[in-house]
Amino acid sequence: MKYCKKCVNPENVYEMNDFDENGVCGMCRNWKNYDEVFAAEQKNKEKRFIEILERYRSKDGSNYDMIIPVSGGKDSLYQVHLLKKVYGFNPLLVTFNHTFNTKTGIYNMTNMVEKLGVDHIRFTPNPQLISKTSRLSLKKFGDICWHCHCGIFTFPLRIAVAFKIPLLISEHKYYGLLSADEENKFQPNLKDRLFAVRAEAKDMVDKELGIELKDLVQWQMPSQEEIDKVGVRGLSIAEYIKWDSKVITEFLIKEYGFKTKEHDRTYDCYANAECHHCSGTHDYLRYLKSGYGRVTDDVGIDIRKGLMTREEGIKMVEKFDGVKPKDLDIYLKRVNMTEEEFMKYMEDKREESVWFKDSDGQWQIKDSVSRHKNDQGVEKVISPLSRVDSYKRISNPLDDEIEKHIIM
Ligand SMILES: [Zn+2]
Repeated sequence: MKYCKKCVNPENVYEMNDFDENGVCGMCRNWKNYDEVFAAEQKNKEKRFIEILERYRSKDGSNYDMIIPVSGGKDSLYQVHLLKKVYGFNPLLVTFNHTFNTKTGIYNMTNMVEKLGVDHIRFTPNPQLISKTSRLSLKKFGDICWHCHCGIFTFPLRIAVAFKIPLLISEHKYYGLLSADEENKFQPNLKDRLFAVRAEAKDMVDKELGIELKDLVQWQMPSQEEIDKVGVRGLSIAEYIKWDSKVITEFLIKEYGFKTKEHDRTYDCYANAECHHCSGTHDYLRYLKSGYGRVTDDVGIDIRKGLMTREEGIKMVEKFDGVKPKDLDIYLKRVNMTEEEFMKYMEDKREESVWFKDSDGQWQIKDSVSRHKNDQGVEKVISPLSRVDSYKRISNPLDDEIEKHIIM
């Protein structure tokens, strides 16, 4: 296996895995230094952003100005802070409840709605159905979270159509929606937009598990006609406002008492405090498939930002990548599955370039970045460090986080 000589990405990283002649991956080459991108243009970008938002403001107060789909994590809170408190808009918050909630997530969500004084719709799907779709998703894709990947997209879109609110704000691009800052661009087929979530609602109908299409109403896309009638558009806030997750989270801890959560599979406690599995079981599955997990992503970002050396990064990968998360038991209990079944679903999903079975029939990993610390040419491309230990995160946990799912 080849590993990026600047970060720790293996060559099977699922996007931009092309290495240049110096052994540097596409992610490192295409990395845009936010400080440089925004340095001269910060004020202009923000002005342009507010101009676009103003076009959507409800002039007579008869409707909301925009929808902000929120999970209750750091990005949600910062978006609501900016749009409501700083710019003075009237957003409607919309949440698709994945039902794998942590106590910390529920706390942060309630805290956000209370402290910022906003209206909020939260949709909770039938928890029995989620056990079934999650099992099917694991069987089909080696992923337990289809219901969340798809629902966080379709549900706010359905609300936009039903409430006739044309603007959806997100920190990154809202899949294939026409963007509010581009005029009359070609509109992709609605189906293509669900590419990222692997399956549409109709593909998740399963007789054996008892999943019918009528159980999956909120996962069905509105029609193109319905979307066009309201003129639904997406707008990515991070294109206009500097979006540095670490800086943002530290501001939110200070300003709003935002709570963080330690994870078993990465050192970054700022992300995914609201879900038991994003940094746990869901991430463990990626490791079982591809031999690397979220810590590789987190290390890559911190190395590119100059917050961590490659050497420190490799230590983090060694510490976290193979860890079986504690929340796996929480998951298995919830969906009534044994660990044996869980692992069996993964048998045919292990990548051959990464895993092999030893003579005892146990899966073994073929390679690791640990064996590539001193590859030829590493010295030439590694980044200099700007600050010592600057990748470290502030720990601000809830006093009594409990290790179980909170459905609602
Ligand atoms: Zn790289």
